Amino acid sequence: MVAQLIDGKAVAKDIRDNLKKQIAEFSDKHAIIPKFAVVLVGQNPASKVYVKNKRLAALECGMLADVIELPAGSNYEEIKVCIQKLNRDKSTHGILVQLPLPNDIDKDLLVQEIDPIKDVDGLHPISLGKLLQGNDTFVPATPGAIQQILKYIDYDVSGKHVVICGRSDIVGKPVAALLVQKEKGANATVTLCHSQTKNLQQITYQADVLIVAIGRPEFIDENMVSEGTVVIDVGINRVSSNLPSKAYKLVGDVQFENVSKIASAITPVPGGVGPVTVSMLLLNTYKAAKLQLNKPDYES
Ligand code: NDP
Repeated sequence: MVAQLIDGKAVAKDIRDNLKKQIAEFSDKHAIIPKFAVVLVGQNPASKVYVKNKRLAALECGMLADVIELPAGSNYEEIKVCIQKLNRDKSTHGILVQLPLPNDIDKDLLVQEIDPIKDVDGLHPISLGKLLQGNDTFVPATPGAIQQILKYIDYDVSGKHVVICGRSDIVGKPVAALLVQKEKGANATVTLCHSQTKNLQQITYQADVLIVAIGRPEFIDENMVSEGTVVIDVGINRVSSNLPSKAYKLVGDVQFENVSKIASAITPVPGGVGPVTVSMLLLNTYKAAKLQLNKPDYES
């Protein structure tokens, strides 16, 4: 079997083309341009690239994006003040804090400073709580992207066994919460694995859909995947490249070459989940702008 290669850029383009039209109509009707602000602390090179991509994608869709750069040594209070200012700013509809933060900053606490109505990353406990309860909310970008990808390839996860490797708060846990809901595009039977899971291979082998977000280069090999599985590789790992022209290359958490001979469909890295994740942020920002239409109590 040769797997269907899932082109994340095409999925992302589909979402953005659609969104672009909706934003144009919305902006015409309400004289409002949806905008998010990213708070970027320090100079992490990967974070800078992600933030740049998010901003460019927003502009391309007719939205706005501000990048608030704070020095690496900023303390909790300074970042909090910045978030509070954005909470009050009527023209900013979405706020996100680019992760990772410097080690001494408690990200969970900081995310709670974001007004839940502007929580376009969907990481505020209120958003995550609503997700768990199956209520309408800002779905975190990567879990939302995974669901969109399955939809794009017309794969109905209802009743299927979805195995997730990795239980982070931004990917593993929320994607489990999302796909287990009693809703269209969900209704899966979910197994959530992590570093303490025993006999991981036996579990991954039973998957109809295998979602991998562990941050370990090419960890999942062909012996861990059974014929016909849909494989969603979330991992983004920098490894040294054999090419003299390139210091490093990006690989996923899955051994793409071997696993793609067994899977029925697979996302590549790069060009798989990543581009769709950015589109989900844009969808959430548009949602936030619509929710805030009738909130007169913000500063102009
Ligand atoms: P975290 O580092 O927060 O979590 C990793 C998870 O993997 C943990 O739950 C850990 O278990 C588990 N794990 C580690 N080793 C193993 C193992 N050998 N077997 C089973 N489970 C294991 O990761 P993130 O979720 O933040 O990111 C994961 C990957 O996805 C990274 O490469 C990251 O760059 C990428 N990523 C990509 C995004 C995209 O848009 N494409 C977005 C976000 C992340 P335990 O909890 O027990 O420690």
